[in-house]
Amino acid sequence: MLAAHHRNILVQALGDTFGPRALGVVVRANLRQDNLRGQIGHDEYHFDNNAFAESRAYIETNRAIIRPALESGHIEKAWAAFGRLTHTAQDFYAHSNYITMWLSRFDGRTPPAPPEVDPLDPELLASPGLRSGVLYYPLELLSYVPALKRFILPLIPRDSHAWMNLDSPEQGPKFDYAFEAAVKRTRHEFEQVAARLSPQQTTALTGK
Ligand SMILES: [Zn+2]
Repeated sequence: MLAAHHRNILVQALGDTFGPRALGVVVRANLRQDNLRGQIGHDEYHFDNNAFAESRAYIETNRAIIRPALESGHIEKAWAAFGRLTHTAQDFYAHSNYITMWLSRFDGRTPPAPPEVDPLDPELLASPGLRSGVLYYPLELLSYVPALKRFILPLIPRDSHAWMNLDSPEQGPKFDYAFEAAVKRTRHEFEQVAARLSPQQTTALTGK
């Protein structure tokens, strides 16, 4: 997803729960995953290239950093780990066909509004049909250039990130579902983390 959307998702999901300083660190750590160094060779940061197991493991790895960091007084380290894992969790909805599969259940009928999306449908999460966009370099990069996009897209396979992504509203009405699913998933990730913390540690994590 584009940086502005990751930021808005975090503010919507955590704005009432986190203090401004903690939220600022979470946002920066989340957005840093899309730096050039985080884009190349790090499918697990973004659920790219069907790296489902790796991306889930990456979320787990960051989750496991949080409590020890809080216990040893490294609060910023805990905030940064949480920020990184929210990026991966949010990209799942923008880079996989989860939203497409969820919406296909309503084929021929009006689907529920985007805020009704279920971000954690067990059947879909375990579906053998779950896919995420493949990065076909260098064509993928050229497709990001607005003036080139319409010439490059027909040359890229349909299972690509370039075709499948829901990174911005430009990609059509499914974006709103990816956005709302990412908001709910971000709250869920916070609840998962908080469930393993003492009330004092949760307060430290939220910075409130
Ligand atoms: Zn990303």
